Amino acid sequence: MKEFDYIIIGGGCSGLSLAYELNLHHKLKDKTLAIIEPRDNYSKDKTWSFWKIFSHNFEDCVKKSWNNFTINIPNHTKYLECKNTPYQTIDSGLFYDKIINSLNQNKNIFFIKNLNEINTNNSFVFNSVANEINSENKLWQHFSGFEIETNKEFFDEEIFNLMDFDCDQKNSVHFFYTLPYSKKKALVETTWISDLKNLSLQDYDEQLNNYIRNNLKIKDFKINFKEVGAIPLFNIKNIKKHNQINIGTAGGMTRLSTGYTFLNIQEHSNYIRKNLDNIQNTNLFTLSKKYQFLDNIFLKVLKKDPKDMGQIFFKMFGCSPKVVINFLSNKSNVLEDLLIVSKMPKLKFLRQFF
Ligand SMILES: Cc1cc2nc3c(=O)[nH]c(=O)nc-3n(C[C@H](O)[C@H](O)[C@H](O)COP(=O)(O)OP(=O)(O)OC[C@H]3O[C@@H](n4cnc5c(N)ncnc54)[C@H](O)[C@@H]3O)c2cc1C
Repeated sequence: MKEFDYIIIGGGCSGLSLAYELNLHHKLKDKTLAIIEPRDNYSKDKTWSFWKIFSHNFEDCVKKSWNNFTINIPNHTKYLECKNTPYQTIDSGLFYDKIINSLNQNKNIFFIKNLNEINTNNSFVFNSVANEINSENKLWQHFSGFEIETNKEFFDEEIFNLMDFDCDQKNSVHFFYTLPYSKKKALVETTWISDLKNLSLQDYDEQLNNYIRNNLKIKDFKINFKEVGAIPLFNIKNIKKHNQINIGTAGGMTRLSTGYTFLNIQEHSNYIRKNLDNIQNTNLFTLSKKYQFLDNIFLKVLKKDPKDMGQIFFKMFGCSPKVVINFLSNKSNVLEDLLIVSKMPKLKFLRQFF
């Protein structure tokens, strides 16, 4: 059976980001890598968005970048600026093409369909596939989006809408999200935070059609692309092995209060690349304990009082956007944390804390 120095299980966002980072920095010149990925070919399946708080390898895959955004609850809208940390959207199709083209040029990198085809005993494994997910009573961020195209110029492509809570909440947390790529094209998403038990929250097509027609007032549009997904807002059980570390969502790279994962994956890849030669003895890379702690309290409050979440997010953006963006991107200092905490309903948070 074939053997490799490194194995990446799952050639998705984290697996490919890591392979690209290792290859870019010549870590695979005299080492072999197998990427275990069942899909036959890659095509655009999602978009990844985030505030660009540090530079990354995929600037050329950015579909659009914004310096301004809004957030709204019924009867109130906040207009905010983010020009020092623009909000970026990456097209997964461009991302896959760029990485696959680059990896195919290295003869030491192999794509293999099934782990059973190789011997893993003497390799170091980076695993992005969760072994088991016990999601009983756990929260998920679940959503669907249409990329639409209109006949007439309709959107202001300079400003995106991060969260529109002016919609039916159904005793969960619900908001719409609109990313205008141009005057005629936009991604519109319906997003829920729930335990997935209420199936009526998942008639996404109807929600999107109603929102586009009744709220955005667009009657004439076509759908160019559709994405559906669910991000676990809980830590996935990690089975520790001496020659393996987990990456991606399975490796705890998702920020539990927001679902943001993409840039954490890039930071993790960078950390692995820098420590590759002694990876077995290197401390695990984790999101700071302070965010894990604060996010857990936040999710408990959310579970107990989902209807308050629109107000809570809206109030949080009463801090300067820089503070909120740093906090949501795991880069806030203590002062910024305190400012965020000061905007939260103290009694509710203290109750969940104790
Ligand atoms: C639709 C969608 C939109 C998202 N948008 C954002 C966003 O805007 N911003 C953000 O920060 N995060 C976002 N996320 C969250 C997160 O960034 C993505 O889920 C990201 O793809 C996670 O990377 P990953 O490598 O952990 O998982 P994946 O990218 O899902 O990769 C896992 C790979 O493993 C493969 N695989 C499955 N089973 C096996 C097996 N048995 N053996 C080998 N391989 C296997 C799969 O085919 C897949 O390629 C989004 C998630 C989804 C689903």
